[in-house]
Amino acid sequence: MEDTSLPEHSPIGYGFIGNRWAVDLLLERLRTGRLGHAYLITGPDQVGKTTLARWLAQAFNCIGERPPCWRCRPCDLIARGIHPDVHLIQREGRSIKIEAIRALQQIAPLRPLEARCRIAIIRNLQDATPEAQDALLKTLEEPPASMRLLLTADSADKLLATIVSRCQVVPLRPVSSEEIAEALIRRYDMLDEEARILARVSDGRPGWAISAVEQPELLNRRKVILDDLIALLHRDRAGRFAFSEDLSRQDDRALILGIWQSWWRDVLLLVERSQVPPINVDRLENLEYLAGQIHPEEARRALQAVRQTLDALNKNANARLALDILMLDLPTLNS
Ligand SMILES: [Zn+2]
Repeated sequence: MEDTSLPEHSPIGYGFIGNRWAVDLLLERLRTGRLGHAYLITGPDQVGKTTLARWLAQAFNCIGERPPCWRCRPCDLIARGIHPDVHLIQREGRSIKIEAIRALQQIAPLRPLEARCRIAIIRNLQDATPEAQDALLKTLEEPPASMRLLLTADSADKLLATIVSRCQVVPLRPVSSEEIAEALIRRYDMLDEEARILARVSDGRPGWAISAVEQPELLNRRKVILDDLIALLHRDRAGRFAFSEDLSRQDDRALILGIWQSWWRDVLLLVERSQVPPINVDRLENLEYLAGQIHPEEARRALQAVRQTLDALNKNANARLALDILMLDLPTLNS
């Protein structure tokens, strides 16, 4: 049998973490010349959807010995996002607009400049307007011979069923903290303990763990977010509404609420004496203190409220109003 093992420096051995089955499946399709016209890669934020799409674009166009070799011209240009035949489409402003899909349709029939075929990576398709999804459907119904489509989305449920049914779906799952920790140790030569904590905090998202190592300010930001949350629980109504007003103007409020969500899930696990280990292991002392102060019902209510608020903000609800309601659903601690 042909050896398809990859060198350590390739994105599989080196950069792509977890979901090995997806890599194996796509490699097998490539090897046997059965790569489909359209793939839909789904999964949570920062689990590796775009990384996998880019990797597939490399593997498909690689001219090195063991695709993707990560060294040849196509591999290098794709990694740097400047290959003339690999197009990345993502939202501009609030959505992926129909103009972006139309522009793609104009170049789709053209012969590729240097690749075997053009590849369009459409990132977070759930952000596409209904008109843009409709337009894309036409391309999927009559796929151009000289183009492959690699779509990503957080969930297939949010897309038109007719789009999903025309793609081969590759559902990526959260990655185990062991796998992420091993990759961090191998890639960054991190200390064992440090890597394990970061891997847990990343909550199954290798992309988050890598960002946290490469941009230490992300970890500092998380620390500030958690400190603010803990302080908020001691505030009265007026203090909370002032906080909410401030939060409603922050660009990264989804990030903030995502961290809150993992926090309240941890608190609930602790209050309920669950055997499931918490995510925020580096803040165990704060978590245990909080779990000792509140009732399970309060933790459950806070978690549910954060989830509902994230949902409402995703649906473009009035941010200030949604956050004000959330403030009243968080437990109050005595000073
Ligand atoms: Zn290559």
